[in-house]
Amino acid sequence: MNVILLRFGELYLKGHNRNYFESTLIKNIKSMLEGEEFKLEMTFGRYVISNYAQERQGKIIEKLKKVFGLYSLSPAVEVDAEVETIKSEVVKIDCKNKSFKVFVKRADKSFPISSMDFAKDLGELILDNNENSSVDLYNPQCEIHVDIRMNHKAYIFDKIIKCQGGLPLGCSGKGLLLLSGGIDSPVAGYLMAKRGMELEALHFHSYPYTSEQAKDKVVKLASLLTSYTGDIRLHVVSFTRVQEEIHKRCRPEFMITIMRRIMMRVAERICEKYNLGAIVTGESLGQVASQTMQSMTVTGSVVKEKPIFRPCIVMDKEDIIEISRDINTYDTSILPYEDCCTVFLPKNPVIKPTIKQAENEEQYIDVKSLVDECLEKEELIQIKREQ
Ligand code: ATP
Ligand code: MG
Repeated sequence: MNVILLRFGELYLKGHNRNYFESTLIKNIKSMLEGEEFKLEMTFGRYVISNYAQERQGKIIEKLKKVFGLYSLSPAVEVDAEVETIKSEVVKIDCKNKSFKVFVKRADKSFPISSMDFAKDLGELILDNNENSSVDLYNPQCEIHVDIRMNHKAYIFDKIIKCQGGLPLGCSGKGLLLLSGGIDSPVAGYLMAKRGMELEALHFHSYPYTSEQAKDKVVKLASLLTSYTGDIRLHVVSFTRVQEEIHKRCRPEFMITIMRRIMMRVAERICEKYNLGAIVTGESLGQVASQTMQSMTVTGSVVKEKPIFRPCIVMDKEDIIEISRDINTYDTSILPYEDCCTVFLPKNPVIKPTIKQAENEEQYIDVKSLVDECLEKEELIQIKREQ
């Protein structure tokens, strides 16, 4: 019978939390495979997926590769743990013109041959049946694994496919991702989800300065992210009035600083309202004027009760782009669009603002009522996971 073996990595480290992590992982696997027919079983320390239609195997593996907390998987054949039965399966593996190594693990000590001897027997069998094959114990091209388990079953496989790793989604609470239409923030969301954090997203638009398409693009990005994060509730907030007010009343070089301080205040209020535990942004140190240490100090200082996570902070743009390609958000992110941050953009934004300076500028606007207004007109879009 064809099966898929699943392995989880870091979960083993979690001591008494392990049950919670495992049950969350299982729930997530089941939800990721919704619509597929399959059986998921725990047999002697291993998770095994079986009873699926063979032609669905590729699709199922693709889906499992998006489940955080899974470390690797192997498509395998499950047979009764009998010497001849195992041999007849091993013979089918194609090792022609390749070097190989056989790994035998014998959890079931009632199996009549020791692991070492059986590996040797199987090695000879493969040599006899594959032209130009050779044994290489140190750097084989082909690794053939035979796991003999206590349930009197043996699993035979020759591929170990790397999965996402990380922690099961939901194990680290829920955060609010500040999602723009750019490259970085979707990557930031993905990285937090990989550490087990579920997400809601917040987008600021400046209609009519920014277009309806700019908003559609963000909906599309959120929707692409859901294949990793599960459903996302997207909060869309109009920033037009805020920007007009700052533009009218504050010094132009502080435009971005004050805007971002108001974004952060709105974000914290939304966290309170919807019970979200952290604010997440796509900022990267030194990337632009608003992402210097001083700028982040000044924008972060208005947030009192929540941590601000910036998972891209240490990353080069190239590395962020690589991840965005992997998670399939890149092509959408680079579509031309206007972000609200590009509206009323000053020529010379301050690079090293201070909190005092920012507070001075804010005397000329009514911060509290601007924030209130943002929250009053918040639009909610429920985005279901893409299958
Ligand atoms: P990104 O590629 O994520 O847009 P960026 O390099 O363009 O980032 P900024 O425009 O300075 O950088 O934005 C920094 C962070 O602020 C973004 O990563 C995002 O988390 C948040 N942000 C910026 N614009 C918006 C917006 N319109 N709505 C929500 N969050 C935003
Ligand atoms: Mg941006």
